[in-house]
Amino acid sequence: MQGQARRDTKPERLLRSALHQLGLRYRVHVRLLPESRRQVDVAFMRERVAVFVDGCFWHGCPEHGHQPRVNDWYWGSKIMANRARDADTDERLEEAAWQVVRVWEHESPEIAAIRIQEVVLSRRMPRGSP
Ligand SMILES: [Zn+2]
Repeated sequence: MQGQARRDTKPERLLRSALHQLGLRYRVHVRLLPESRRQVDVAFMRERVAVFVDGCFWHGCPEHGHQPRVNDWYWGSKIMANRARDADTDERLEEAAWQVVRVWEHESPEIAAIRIQEVVLSRRMPRGSP
């Protein structure tokens, strides 16, 4: 079972509930890139903000990511592949005029929600306004 296949992980649910408390409207598990099966965890369609909640292990968090152990090479290469795919996804989304926000599963959902809210609100301002 791939780590990415999980849906509605606890960090995701907590983040969505924190976003909801801020009064934000979003969609969940949206496929934004027709050529990619990767789903965005939380998407603000009007503002074009795409949020991913990344698992510390699978996405190689600098604090709790990969620890050296017996299957070092195996896990290390899987995590490297995930990170490369994350970077590719970000690039494609940004090319399609989406703003990508990545949240680590270890982050406080309330603080992450505020960070996302700031991005969403900034995207509501008309282009070129002060
Ligand atoms: Zn972490």
